[in-house]
Amino acid sequence: MTQPYDPNNVFARILRGEIPCRKVLETEHSLAFHDIGPQAPTHILIIPKGAYIGMDDFTTKASDAEVADFFRAVGEVARMAELVETGYRVLSNCGRNAHQEVQHLHYHVVGGRDLGRMLG
Ligand code: 5GP
Repeated sequence: MTQPYDPNNVFARILRGEIPCRKVLETEHSLAFHDIGPQAPTHILIIPKGAYIGMDDFTTKASDAEVADFFRAVGEVARMAELVETGYRVLSNCGRNAHQEVQHLHYHVVGGRDLGRMLG
C-alpha cells in the first residue's frame, strides 16, 4: 500500500508560506527555491504545487498542464542559474531505496562545479 500524502511535510509548508525559502522561480503549477543544504555552488529544488509524493503519483494523477509546467520550470531554472553552458545534473530521489527525505516530489538541479560521474 502506498502512503498517503502528508500535508505537513516541509515543502507543503513552504508552499503555504509557513516556512521561508529563497525563491528562484514561481510558475502557475511549480515553485523553485534554493536547497537549504547545498551540495554544490548551485543547488536548486523544483517542486510541483500539487500534492504529489513522487514520480509515480505525479505522472499518473497530475494534469498534462502541471507536468509540462514542471518540466519547463526545471529547464528554466538551469537557464536562470546560467548552468547550461558548463552543464549540470538533474535528479529526483523517489522512495525508500533512494532515501527520499521530503515526501513531496522534488527535482534537484545541481551545478557550478565538476560533479564527477554518478554512475559507472
Ligand atoms: P531528498 O533527499 O528528499 O531528495 O532531498 C531533500 C532536500 O531538501 C535536501 O537536499 C535538503 O537539504 C532539502 N531541504 C530539507 N528541508 C528544507 C527546507 O526547509 N528548506 C529548503 N530550502 N530545503 C530543505
